[in-house]
Amino acid sequence: MSKIALVTGASRGIGRAIAERLARDGYRIWANYSGSKGAAEGLCAQIEQAGGSALPVQFNVADGEGTTRALEALIEAEGGPDVVVSNAGITRDGLMATMSANEWNEVLNTNLGGFFHVSKACLRPMLRKRAGRIIAISSLSGEAGNPGQVNYSASKAGLIGACKALAKEIASRNITVNVVAPGFVQTDMVKELPKDELEKMIPLKRFGRPEEIAAAVAFLASDEAGYITGHVLSVNGGMYI
Ligand code: NAP
Repeated sequence: MSKIALVTGASRGIGRAIAERLARDGYRIWANYSGSKGAAEGLCAQIEQAGGSALPVQFNVADGEGTTRALEALIEAEGGPDVVVSNAGITRDGLMATMSANEWNEVLNTNLGGFFHVSKACLRPMLRKRAGRIIAISSLSGEAGNPGQVNYSASKAGLIGACKALAKEIASRNITVNVVAPGFVQTDMVKELPKDELEKMIPLKRFGRPEEIAAAVAFLASDEAGYITGHVLSVNGGMYI
């Protein structure tokens, strides 16, 4: 039976590239989405046409009860996932002085709360199996802090702390927990940003491609990465602010 990889936010952007890559690496994909049903179904159809295996799975990662319900049903039906990629994320940018509590809460609940809800739901079967890979998608903003993104930077820095702690908590069960921290990557999330200006500040002089983030995730998911845990792998074109 194929190993299973759950990818949250798999309908678009980086998550979609991760799902495509892990499907090519032989995983059955649980492709989570929030609102983009058509895109997630299209992705799964494309994976199946290419000889892979994928299931679109709708839940909002910010909703703890809904996420737990959806994942418990899937785990009951198919067994626990071998790899969990916590990728779903949002931005609500603005200066702290004018940031609403809602903008703060939405970002924290989705980006950091989502990691908690999804990883917790999948943890028990991993602990029982004494095997597993948990990979969270953080951001350069979480490593360095980015003005106009106090909420987003807090959520992404929080992921790094959470993963380092969880890595130590469950290392004895042979489960690794790592973080990939992308710089600017060409997706819907950054389409409003001044690309030409930003590219000048990136040592490699270009935005990353979603496939380049997916390659880092695929490595951390692989058997070869079995001795790496609690690590933050920056994939940012050399842009360490
Ligand atoms: P994107 O193109 O905006 O795609 C976001 C994905 O997350 C979509 O599949 C979306 O699903 C899903 N999503 C959002 N809220 C969700 C929720 N509450 N529950 C379930 N799924 C949800 O973003 P992206 O650029 O690919 O970003 C992916 C991850 O990489 C994010 O965590 C982001 O913070 C991080 N990142 C991105 C960049 C960058 O430059 N692009 C840089 C650093 C880090 P729907 O389509 O259903 O809405």
